[in-house]
Amino acid sequence: MDNERSGMIIRDLRIRKGVTQKQLADAIGVSDKAVSKWETGMGAPDISIVGSLAAELGVSADVILSGSLGSKEESSGNMNRMNFYVCPECGNVMAASGSAEVTCCGRKVPALNVKEAKPADDGHRLEVSESDGELYITFSHEMTKQHYIGFVCAVRFDRFLMVQMFPEQSSELRIPDMRKCRLYFWCSRDGLFVQ
Ligand SMILES: [Zn+2]
Ligand SMILES: [Zn+2]
Repeated sequence: MDNERSGMIIRDLRIRKGVTQKQLADAIGVSDKAVSKWETGMGAPDISIVGSLAAELGVSADVILSGSLGSKEESSGNMNRMNFYVCPECGNVMAASGSAEVTCCGRKVPALNVKEAKPADDGHRLEVSESDGELYITFSHEMTKQHYIGFVCAVRFDRFLMVQMFPEQSSELRIPDMRKCRLYFWCSRDGLFVQ
């Protein structure tokens, strides 16, 4: 059991449920100090409590023990509603975890929803490797003004990290490693891809 991961998930689930540490603690018969300790990764719930804790939070014990919601629940998180915006005038790139009215260069910028992303194909694929806790990403896609990759965005169920790219720039980038992230990237000619 990874205390830190488990702690994060306990905290996320408790907040999602809208209860305080004290309320959660009372519900499962521990002190609020104990809950606070778990959430900060300073301790872990005793194995005899994990079952009732998980039930109280509406998940299986596995979720608490692994510190992960599992791919099904993670992929149904907020980030499913995420939109990207690329200004057709200036190429400015933005992202929002829900729908937003985005204006740039005096015009409304159309939203690209993550659900519209196509799977990576032969012409649009990122080569990803891990080094020093970072993801090192390269691609063979051209970077000309007519046809280039405008951004790469790493998306996890609870956060995202976006790197904007420009024509004539080199086709490599580094982003901090996010476990279990999905990579979205946008081609100026062919649209949004995911892998
Ligand atoms: Zn603009
Ligand atoms: Zn392309």
